[in-house]
Amino acid sequence: MRQTLVAGNWKLNGSLASVKELLAGIKAGLAEVTNAEVAVCPPYIFIPEAQAQLAGSPIAWGGQNLSAETDGAFTGEVAASMLRDFDCKYVLVGHSERRTLYGEDNALVAKKFAVARKAGLIPVLCVGETLDERQQGITENVVGGQLAAVIDQEGVAALGNAVVAYEPVWAIGTGMTASPEQAQAVHAFIRAQVALHDAAIADGLRILYGGSMKPGNAVELMAQADIDGGLIGGAALKADDFLSICKAAN
Ligand code: PEP
Repeated sequence: MRQTLVAGNWKLNGSLASVKELLAGIKAGLAEVTNAEVAVCPPYIFIPEAQAQLAGSPIAWGGQNLSAETDGAFTGEVAASMLRDFDCKYVLVGHSERRTLYGEDNALVAKKFAVARKAGLIPVLCVGETLDERQQGITENVVGGQLAAVIDQEGVAALGNAVVAYEPVWAIGTGMTASPEQAQAVHAFIRAQVALHDAAIADGLRILYGGSMKPGNAVELMAQADIDGGLIGGAALKADDFLSICKAAN
């Protein structure tokens, strides 16, 4: 039985004051969520605040990105070991905004995935197609390629302690959500691809859906057989909305 996970990706949002308020709001409302795991990924600089407020609570925290390097002359980068120093459990790897805005290709994403695991973080590997790719009918080639880049380099066993997030790029921050059937089809494809290598790992792999998941569509999306939770952007910035999604996952 896969444990549902709802993770908030706060992106480049918030101030120290608003982050304190958001963390307190989530913490206060979480008592009703007993079956789903919950995590938040604040901007790096607010991770110590998340640690201070969430340590000892059931809520985990993580990074939105990490360096592919472990140390050295890489100005502005943050290493996996540094995230671990602040007790991060998860780290997003290959979010579509990193891929499209910062040129992260499959090889770099695979390297980050490896570095994260080596440091003891659980990578959340983000995959997904653009609208153009969907319209061309190549969604499976794109998503399959993003997944294969990691499996080929790290071996399928690496997915035994990782999470995959299917995030159609056209649904991220746009208000357009994949229908439950569209999302389920890609989730089932991802699981089947992993099963070609190892059926047990495929069966245990948590695959989250991301892309304009909101309180109004979370129940239907998470009712799908291969959707094991959500990676939430915009709706993770309001404690009430995020908590409603967590309850839907419960
Ligand atoms: C995301 O950035 O991972 C995301 C899913 O964003 P949103 O929920 O705003 O579409």
